[in-house]
Amino acid sequence: AKGAGKNCVVAYEPRMRADRLNLTRLAAGLRHAIGRRELALHYQPVVELASGAVIGVEALLRWTPETGAVPPTTFIPIAEETGLIVPIGTWVLQQACRDAVSWHRYHDTVLTVNVSARQLREPDFPQTVLDTLRDSGLPPSALILEITETALLAVGAVETRRVIARLEELRRHGIRIAVDDFGTGYSSLSYLRHLPVDILKIDRAFTPDSDGDSAENAAFTRAILQLGRTLDLNTIAEGVETAGQARLLQEMECQLAQGYHFARPMPATALAQLLAGSPAG
Ligand code: C2E
Ligand code: CA
Ligand code: CA
Ligand code: CA
Repeated sequence: AKGAGKNCVVAYEPRMRADRLNLTRLAAGLRHAIGRRELALHYQPVVELASGAVIGVEALLRWTPETGAVPPTTFIPIAEETGLIVPIGTWVLQQACRDAVSWHRYHDTVLTVNVSARQLREPDFPQTVLDTLRDSGLPPSALILEITETALLAVGAVETRRVIARLEELRRHGIRIAVDDFGTGYSSLSYLRHLPVDILKIDRAFTPDSDGDSAENAAFTRAILQLGRTLDLNTIAEGVETAGQARLLQEMECQLAQGYHFARPMPATALAQLLAGSPAG
């Protein structure tokens, strides 16, 4: 940013307009993504640090229109803004449960599915989840719904109560709830006690480096792990990219982790092969 004031505004305007045009185009394309079979799920293993056993997988959505793959960080916000995340989210649940039931038969892994705040605001969300489980044959105990910290809290007091009631209903059926990107939001400790939550996922921004250049991250991770133990929640460290990080987390008595160091997200067929060759968790 060289020029000051007015000049900057003028300079940025064409690009902003182009961005908006691009967003409109993406939103239009996303509308047809299910019908055109452009959506796919990849699965990233969650491993037990001590044994390396795969105990679960996270379903991650991929969108590849004719013009080339669009990253989730681009299209998920568009899907949320347009409300398309509701039908897309239902598709994700159905596809993921169908995939998971095929490997759940011989490998006791849990399936984690990301859920947006927008989906939780649908009164029939619990029924959609329960119907999907029944249709697929996947047991409720094999499903974890992952919800960001901000999604749980940012919808307003009345709406939050309704969302919590929906999550509690699902938990009564044995489905577990994980808080995604934990540490990036603002939930106070006392608040967390009242949320229907089973698992904390430490955002990868806090996953400590073994280089020691992130003493602050290490302290933060330790604090979250302690919090998890206090509240009797499982904790998963995300974004583990190196053996050093994995070792450090194990020293901190973190039990579960996920990241490129163990495995990248992969298509269902590749995951099935990986599970077939690894001991049941
Ligand atoms: P997330 O739920 O926090 O998922 C973890 C993201 O980190 C994934 O990015 C994953 O590929 C990436 N990742 C995993 N291990 C590592 C690592 O070691 N290093 C680094 N740098 N990254 C790692 P992805 O697949 O691009 O997804 C981005 C976000 O899009 C997700 O973040 C989630 O918020 C959203 N998303 C993806 N699929 C869905 C979906 O089906 N529904 C909803 N609502 N959101 C989704
Ligand atoms: Ca997630
Ligand atoms: Ca996350
Ligand atoms: Ca994230």
